[in-house]
Order: sequence, then C-alpha cells, then structure tokens
Amino acid sequence: MSSDCIFCKIARGEIPSKKVYEDEDILAFHDINPIAPVHFMIIPKRHLANLYDADMNHQALLGKLLGKAGELARSQGLADGFRTIINTGRIGHQEVYHLHIHILGGPEPLGSMLKRK
Ligand code: 5GP
Ligand code: ZN
Repeated sequence: MSSDCIFCKIARGEIPSKKVYEDEDILAFHDINPIAPVHFMIIPKRHLANLYDADMNHQALLGKLLGKAGELARSQGLADGFRTIINTGRIGHQEVYHLHIHILGGPEPLGSMLKRK
C-alpha cells in the first residue's frame, strides 16, 4: 500500500473509478482519459511500482493480471483483438507509478505499435 499513490486510492475505493472487474488481488477500470474507443487498465491491488520492481516472487500475480486480459477484453466488446501496453519508467513514459496493463481496442484496427522514425 502506498498512501499517496492514485491507483492505490482507486484500489481502496477512495477515488471512484468505472470498474470492469474486481477480485481480492486485482482490479480493472476504465482509463479516465481514453486513447481508444475501449481503454481500461488491469492493476494489482497491492502497490507495485512497475516491472522493474517485479520479480519471480510476483509470478502468480503477474500471471493473473495477464490471464484475465482476454476475458475482460471480451467482456468489453473486444471480440476481434486488442492491444496490451505496460509502460515502465521514464523511457517507457510511465505516468502513474503503480503497475498497470493498458487494454486498448475498438471497432477499427489500432494502427502500428509505434511510429517508425
Ligand atoms: P501510464 O502513462 O502511466 O502508462 O498511464 C497512466 C494512465 O492512467 C493514463 O492513461 C491516465 O489517463 C490514467 N489515469 C491517471 N489518473 C487516473 C485516474 O484518476 N483515474 C483513471 N481511471 N485513470 C487515470
Ligand atoms: Zn499504488
């Protein structure tokens, strides 16, 4: 738990969110500023800053976060594919330092992953 972490506050219900799924370990909720017609995130409830802070002790939790992705994507109407993004650190342009998996999709293909220079 981290008292000033915005996603910890969402996990504790102190900040409202548009929930997609919740169980004892993980929470999925819609992004407040979506960049695709469907854009939600899956997070662990326990604070973990990012993949740099994850190790093999987190194997089961990481598996659960990804293992739920397909089911939750389908539940939001993404029956024909979606994109997962995990931003890590400064180079990864991580804005919120609580691990989250973005799930993005919509009726149209999302285009290439990154713009080629
Ligand atoms: P990052 O850049 O760290 O991978 O993504 C953080 C995401 O969290 C952004 O897409 C941003 O829109 C979203 N976000 C930031 N604050 C809030 C919030 O209070 N509620 C929700 N639902 N999403 C948030
Ligand atoms: Zn947190």
